[in-house]
Amino acid sequence: MLGTRSSKRRRAGSESQDGALEEDNITLDAEVTIPDGNVFLVAQRVAFRVHKSSLSRVSDVFRDLFALPPNSNTETLHGLPYVQVWDDPDDLRHLLLVVCCGKNYYYENDEVKPVPFRVLAALIRVGHKYAVQPVLNDALARLKKYYTSDLPAWLDVEGRNCFVSDVKPRDAATVIQLARLTNAPILLPTAYFIASQLTSTVHENGNKLALALFSPEDTAFLVTARVRLVKVAYARMMSLVTCLPNVLCETPQACMKTGLCALSMNRTTNTANEDKIFDLMQDRFWDVLAGQRSVCAECRAHSDDYDARLRSAMWSLLPAHFKLKVDGWPTKTDAIYG
Ligand SMILES: [Zn+2]
Repeated sequence: MLGTRSSKRRRAGSESQDGALEEDNITLDAEVTIPDGNVFLVAQRVAFRVHKSSLSRVSDVFRDLFALPPNSNTETLHGLPYVQVWDDPDDLRHLLLVVCCGKNYYYENDEVKPVPFRVLAALIRVGHKYAVQPVLNDALARLKKYYTSDLPAWLDVEGRNCFVSDVKPRDAATVIQLARLTNAPILLPTAYFIASQLTSTVHENGNKLALALFSPEDTAFLVTARVRLVKVAYARMMSLVTCLPNVLCETPQACMKTGLCALSMNRTTNTANEDKIFDLMQDRFWDVLAGQRSVCAECRAHSDDYDARLRSAMWSLLPAHFKLKVDGWPTKTDAIYG
């Protein structure tokens, strides 16, 4: 909700029977205080001194807000007109630092620098609310570098941390909200994937955490989707053997026997690995044989290639796992029976 306050013959600092500002209760923000600013934006109890023109130039919402009919009795704060808004002051500060103070969260000396997740989320929330398109676009573009649709980039966690820092699994709930808010569905498959992992018992508090973040219905949906994903991962593990023998194999019977032995031994391990179902599983799978025996080189190469293709297929189907249709998500995969 946006609004201006005005009140006849009453100045800020007076008593506040009708909720008017009291100067003593307002903190002047230390970071966003433009010396010759001509208006205060007051978010809750924090006042930001800014230029109307700076904000009007980038935002029709601010322009309209400042263009409300002037009132000669407009209430003032420290001698300036003020506009009360209801944003979280920390959120608003990030937006104003960018728009009014020229802060660049994304680069330093032309080098990419990681942006804390909470800052990106704030820029998206208020950038969207006030329709500051460049701020919104930059923040969404950066968030998409972390919640990426590209499988190699997704697997490169260190690389993603260079773009966004301080990301916690529970932030997936915020990403889902922001993606819905800004119509950015490309963020959803990975956010849902992380959210579904929150329902796993391998995470501290498991379902309790999911229930704290999502409705019971959404939690049930996430659990169901997760079970499907784990089933697919186990099917993929079995396929590492059922794809054998390779046509070039000269010892098909021995290779099949070895493959089935490995499959049997893997049944007692978590080779499908709930948290790493988009990693290649070939090494973990064959390592159970501890080098005592192995399939022939042709069969192993074929099985490894099969693992990579199935993983790629799983990734392309990730949106469908969560009943999402996402333009731009990679769909082209190598033929599984290449
Ligand atoms: Zn073979």
